[in-house]
Amino acid sequence: MRGPPTLLVHGGAGTISEALREDVRAGIHAATIRGQELLRSGASAVDIAVAVVRILEDDPAFNAGRGACLTEAGEVEVDAGIMRSYDRRSGAIAGVKSCLDPILIARAVMETTRHALLVGPGAEAFARARGVGSFGSAEVETVKSRERWRRALAGEISIDNRADTVGAVVLDRRGHLCAAGSTGGVLLKLPGRAGDTPLVGAGFFADPVLGACCCTGVGEAIMAKVLAYEALRQVAAAPARAHEIAAALCKLASSEHGGAAVGLILLRPEGTAVIVHESEHMSWGLARAEGDAASGLQRSV
Ligand code: ASP
Repeated sequence: MRGPPTLLVHGGAGTISEALREDVRAGIHAATIRGQELLRSGASAVDIAVAVVRILEDDPAFNAGRGACLTEAGEVEVDAGIMRSYDRRSGAIAGVKSCLDPILIARAVMETTRHALLVGPGAEAFARARGVGSFGSAEVETVKSRERWRRALAGEISIDNRADTVGAVVLDRRGHLCAAGSTGGVLLKLPGRAGDTPLVGAGFFADPVLGACCCTGVGEAIMAKVLAYEALRQVAAAPARAHEIAAALCKLASSEHGGAAVGLILLRPEGTAVIVHESEHMSWGLARAEGDAASGLQRSV
C-alpha cells in the first residue's frame, strides 16, 4: 500500500544552545510549512526535499550554507548528499569551500553526471562550469559562526554534539521517495574532513521498497554503522517495530562512540514516519498533505 504524501525534516541531533532555540524552532517550522505547501501542490519528492533543505541552508540558525561551522583553519567547508528512490541515483559533494547552497550542486551531480560524489576543488569547478551554486565567504560566514569558532579555539565552549545540520525525507504523490542532507560538518574539523552527510548508505539512502532515511549527529559514529541503510534494512524486516528498531540503532551507534549525538528521520513507502535521536535535542518537522504540520526540538519514542 502506498502511503500519503509525507515530509520529515530535521535540524540536527545534539544540544541546541539556549540562545538559538527560538530561532531553530521558528526555522524548522517555516521549512516544514513550506514543504507541506509543496506536498499539497503535487511537487516531486526531489523538488520538495531540495526546497526544504535550501530554506534551512539560508537560515543562519543552522549549520549548513549560511552560518555553517568553521574548520580548524577558520574556513567553511560543506558537504551535501541526495538520493531518489525510483532509480536509486544519488549525488553528493564534500569539502567544498564557502558554498551557500551545496544541495543544489549535489542534485546536479545526481541529475547531470555519471558520478555519485565530487569533492573539493573538482566539485567547485563542476558547479561553476554548470552555473550552479553560490560561493563567497561573505555569503556563508556570520558574526556568530566566527565568534563560535574563536571561542571553541580558545577552549571557552565545547565542540561536541552541536545540533544544527539539516536534512529531509519525502514521499510524494507518485510514491517516489527522496532523502537529502546538507552540513558544515563538525566545529573545528580538520580541513578536508568529510562526515556521513555526503556518504550514500551512511548519511542518507532512498529505495522504492525500503524507504528513505537521513541521519544526523557525529558523522564518524554514523559511518561506522552505515546507519541510513542499516536502519532502513532492519525496519523493513519488522515495520511494526520501526521506532523501537531505529531508536536502538541510534543508541548503539552513540554508545559505541562515547555517547556521541546520533539521530535519524525515516519514511517507509507505506507512510510510516520515524523520528528518533540519541541526543538532548533534534529539531524536527512532520507534515502530510492532509492535516496540520507539527514540529519541535525534541522527540521521544
Ligand atoms: N553528521 C554531520 C557530520 O558529521 C554533522 C551533524 O549531523 O550535525 O558532518
